Amino acid sequence: MVIENVKPKFWVEKERLNSKIVDCLTVILRTSGCYWAKKNGCLMCNYIADAYPSTYDELVNQIEFAMSNKNFQILKIFTSGSFFDTKEVPEGFREYVYSKAYELGIKKLIVESRPEFITSKIVDELSALKFEVEVGIGLETANDFVREYCINKGFKFKDFERAAKLLKGKARVKAYLLLKPPFLSEREAIEDAINSTLKIKNLVDVVSLNPTNVQSKTYIEKLWKLKLYRPPWLWSVIEVLKQVSKEVDIISDPVAAGKIRGPHNCGRCDKDVAKAIKEFSLHKDISVLDVECECKALWEKILELEDYSRIPLVK
Ligand code: SF4
Ligand SMILES: [Zn+2]
Repeated sequence: MVIENVKPKFWVEKERLNSKIVDCLTVILRTSGCYWAKKNGCLMCNYIADAYPSTYDELVNQIEFAMSNKNFQILKIFTSGSFFDTKEVPEGFREYVYSKAYELGIKKLIVESRPEFITSKIVDELSALKFEVEVGIGLETANDFVREYCINKGFKFKDFERAAKLLKGKARVKAYLLLKPPFLSEREAIEDAINSTLKIKNLVDVVSLNPTNVQSKTYIEKLWKLKLYRPPWLWSVIEVLKQVSKEVDIISDPVAAGKIRGPHNCGRCDKDVAKAIKEFSLHKDISVLDVECECKALWEKILELEDYSRIPLVK
């Protein structure tokens, strides 16, 4: 069999493991891609552009390549889809990942999946492992209306709830929440993220707040090009973190922070504000979020006035 020399994306970064900061290897494997993206797809996502139908051997190759000569205690295996979907990740590959992680003595494995692939069989499989497993699920919002009409996610809150309850106590549950789906004002987006966090706080172990970035060839990009969408302000990320950090373990690692297509402020403070958000996520010290810039007053005005010019989408 010919094995294509397909390379995954990978990098080592710092992550929190209980109270320690350790090295984490993140590997984004090239798989055939998320089935939902092929069928319909979420309005902000174009991960499918990187899809490649890797065989079992090609996936093993990608992992071996990414892992060579590296030390890490946490391993994140992302597929830009669902690790537990056997149409995307060939049968047997999960077992290979588990045995590799065991052999390397890693402390924690993090994977991602849509809720429909989380079954009792999968949960039994995870409970038998000798290291901690965390499963990330892209809930995006706890509001079914916003998830359906502003994101086109293709599942309901009850689907997430079922999966989270199955996993709870057997594996760690991480929910991804999307800060500022299209069609929400800045204020509505903040409220949606806060309400969603509070609604799921007893179902999850950690919330990852993902401010929207404008990926190419997406529906959101069309809106953005027509000036009908602006990615969230970094002040909004800080606002959500401050409001809910006492209630739940919450982290955020904004992608493309400070860039025009990513969450941004005025341009002058973006670097410092993004750094503060990362510092908070790593060390859990709320005081690092006390950053200031003149543009904060403009953001406050937007929260106050933006809704007057439009019909509120969410009551
Ligand atoms: S956001 Fe997730 S579920 Fe939606 S299309 Fe992209 S990979 Fe699939
Ligand atoms: Zn600023």
